[in-house]
Amino acid sequence: MQWSIVFFIIYAGYIFYVFVAHFDGNALPQESPLSSPPVTRPPSVDGFLPIGSFMALKLWITTGIFDRIHPSGLVIFAAALVMALLLKKGFCGWICPVGALSDATWKIGKKLFHTNYRIHPYVDYSLRSLKYLLMIFFLYIVLLKMSPYEIMQFLEGDYYKIADVKMLYFFTRMSSATFITLLALVFFSIVSKNVWCRYLCPYGALLGLISMCSPLKITRNEDACINCGQCTRNCPSLLPVEEKIRVYSPECTGCLTCVSHCPAKGALDIAVSRRMIVQPILFALLIIGLFFGSVGVAKLAGTWHSSVPYGEYQRIIPLASILDHP
Ligand code: SF4
Ligand code: SF4
Repeated sequence: MQWSIVFFIIYAGYIFYVFVAHFDGNALPQESPLSSPPVTRPPSVDGFLPIGSFMALKLWITTGIFDRIHPSGLVIFAAALVMALLLKKGFCGWICPVGALSDATWKIGKKLFHTNYRIHPYVDYSLRSLKYLLMIFFLYIVLLKMSPYEIMQFLEGDYYKIADVKMLYFFTRMSSATFITLLALVFFSIVSKNVWCRYLCPYGALLGLISMCSPLKITRNEDACINCGQCTRNCPSLLPVEEKIRVYSPECTGCLTCVSHCPAKGALDIAVSRRMIVQPILFALLIIGLFFGSVGVAKLAGTWHSSVPYGEYQRIIPLASILDHP
C-alpha cells in the first residue's frame, strides 16, 4: 500500500516538475510564454504542505472558508487526523511515503550490518521530545498567535501560492547545507530504526497523540500468548508488545507487523476490546476507504484542485527563488 503511494508520488513529482518548468524559463525551453502547460498540476503534491494545511484547517473551522489555494492538502490533513482518531496512526503506517522510505532505510541497514543500532533509552526519550517540541511550536503559532484574518492573508499571498514550487526547488536546487543534512539523516536512518518518524516528525507527533484516543489498540490475549517475543522483536516502533495487554503508546502506527509475526492464534489482534476484534484485512480496508473516500468526496465537491489561475503562476513562479516568507 505504502509503496504504491511512494511510486505514485514520484510520478506526481515528475509531472509537477514539468508543470513548473513550463513557467520557469530557466528549467526547460519554453515554446511560448502564453501556451498552456503540457500537463495539469497534480493536486497530490499539496500533501507535502502540512503546516499550511493546518492553518487552512483552523480557518475552515473558525470561519467556514475552505482553502482554495492548496485544497487537497487540507483534505489529506483532515483525513489523517480523522484516521488517527479512529484507526490509530494509520496514516503513518499505511499511507505516508516518508514512513515507507524511513522503513526501507533501516531495513537496508539491517541487511548490511545484520542489526540496527539501539539508542540508549535515556537518549531515546530525550530525542523523542524533539518532535513534540516542534509540534508545540507549530500549535502555538497557528492556534494561539495567528488570527483567522492573518491566516487568510497568508493563504492568499504569493508565498503560499507557490509554497509547493519552493518545496520542489528544495530538492531540485539543493543547497550544500540541505544536501549534507539529508545525507546525515539517511545515514542515521540506515543505522537506527525510523529516525525521522521517531525523533523529528511533528506531523507524526500530533497524529500519535490523537491516536491515543482511538478505540482500536493492539491487544494481547495472555491466555493464548506463548511469550515468544516475536511481536516485540519485529515492532518497527520498538514497543515492548509482549509486556502489554493493550498498546496505548503514541508511537504505535497500527502497522500490524506484530500481529502478522505472532505465531499463536488469537494471541494478538487489533481490537476495541477482547470481545471486539477487527480482522486485519478489515482494518486495512477501513484505512484505504477513509483515505481514498476523502479524496473522492473532495473531487466530487470540487475541493480537490487548486483554483490559482494560469496568469498567477506565470507571474509568480519565475520569482520563486527570490520570494521570501512575508
Ligand atoms: S508492530 Fe504492532 S505495536 Fe508495533 S507499531 Fe506496528 S502495530 Fe504498533
Ligand atoms: S508474538 Fe504473539 S505469542 Fe509471541 S509474545 Fe507476542 S503476542 Fe505472545
